[in-house]
Amino acid sequence: MPGERSAGIYGQRNGAYIQRPRFIAIGEFGPGALIYHEGNRYTIDRVTVPMGDRPGQVATSDVRLCEACGYWHDRVDGADRCENCAVPLHRTLPKLMQLTQVHAEPRRRISSDEEEERLKRGFDLRTVYRYAPGGAHQAQVRDTDGAPLAEVTYGDSASVRVLNLGYRKRDAQDRSGQGFWLDPVSGRWLSEGKAARLAQEESAEEESLASFDRAQRTLQVIPYAQDTKNIAVVRLAEPVDDLTAVSLRYALERGIEAHFQLEDSELESEDLPDAERHGRTLFVESAEGGAGVLRRLYDDEDALALVAKEALRIIHYDEDGKDLDRADGAAERCELGCYDCLLSYSNQGFHRRIDRHRAAPWLVALAHSRTRDESRPEPSTTAPAPRREPASDTPIEAFVRLLADGGHRLPDETATDVADAVFHLPGAEVAVFLEYDGARRLGEQDEYRMMDDGWLVIRAGAEPDWKDTVRAYPDVFGVGRDHRGGDR
Ligand SMILES: [Zn+2]
Ligand SMILES: [Zn+2]
Repeated sequence: MPGERSAGIYGQRNGAYIQRPRFIAIGEFGPGALIYHEGNRYTIDRVTVPMGDRPGQVATSDVRLCEACGYWHDRVDGADRCENCAVPLHRTLPKLMQLTQVHAEPRRRISSDEEEERLKRGFDLRTVYRYAPGGAHQAQVRDTDGAPLAEVTYGDSASVRVLNLGYRKRDAQDRSGQGFWLDPVSGRWLSEGKAARLAQEESAEEESLASFDRAQRTLQVIPYAQDTKNIAVVRLAEPVDDLTAVSLRYALERGIEAHFQLEDSELESEDLPDAERHGRTLFVESAEGGAGVLRRLYDDEDALALVAKEALRIIHYDEDGKDLDRADGAAERCELGCYDCLLSYSNQGFHRRIDRHRAAPWLVALAHSRTRDESRPEPSTTAPAPRREPASDTPIEAFVRLLADGGHRLPDETATDVADAVFHLPGAEVAVFLEYDGARRLGEQDEYRMMDDGWLVIRAGAEPDWKDTVRAYPDVFGVGRDHRGGDR
């Protein structure tokens, strides 16, 4: 399938492979799951076990999870506070095992009751995240009076994991069984009964015959899928109830998709825990490399406002908060939500928590907001700079003026030891070299060395070419005033 590339988990049966994107596969290919392929039923009964450093050892790792914000940490001695929100860490999840390939067996005899039971049961999936070092960038969202509405943290190349914690329990109190029982030698998933029996045999035999294999005949693991994604975490400035948080989450997701013209599958959202109930929400750009839209929520001061305006239109409200009752041309009035606005088949589990009217006041406020990283200096593009005589400009100044006039991002430094202009972007250091009389010469070897050091090197050419260069790198220079928002 397009876009699935090598980032999938494989399901195998009789030598045939089915590939699914990792984060979908972790749920669909969970232990004991039923899958359908070419008219036949299969159950996932086995995994390819990732090998540890020693022979016979399964590669697993323990993580510590922040219950206050959903951030994950490798378990390291002495690390007992969340690196993201500084709250003490209490919860350790033992023996996480990365899932890469699963195997399925044909399953002919299965009663329809059992089938229905399995399909209904589902898995307790949990999405957790971790920013790349130096890869988190936070901006404040303020209303027209400057009062805080929310904060947006953009994470470039963040590590996102989806954990499969076990079968979804009817009794939410039951948290004892975390993960699944595995026979590490064969890679077979075991039922809990079977795992208990094997454990008993093991202890009886152990005294006389404690082989290495038997010492590990059953192992409880938490399967997970991991990927590197661009993410944004949006957190409101005030506490909200659960219905407002969920409704606003879906409204913003729809708004982002509409504003940036993304397919539904290109953006995912998740509720994150929030100790203060500030509706912390994770947005994940699914596409590898990504279209870069989540970064724009952080570094384009109008992007979130435009997204909120789209979201208001989608939930049948006008920009000032007047309920328009229904989708354009729809016969039926929309009460709390409809399939034209916030409901979809993929969010069925949330339909009872969706109420478009609760999202509306937040969206109206956000529609008139401005987003800025307040740790960065105010951009100088707002007031037209007094025109200097072009003749007095150095070539570097002329280049910066061209950027400013076009409403593009300005360099963080100019005429440094490294390059003519330097941009410190989330996840990238960019060096720009201009061609002019007396310009420094960047040799090929120097360029390779800089690339090895992680620089993106842009040779902007001579002045007549600058505009084309700027247009060729929208991720670096921004799209400019003429192409921003509006007409999409
Ligand atoms: Zn935390
Ligand atoms: Zn509706």
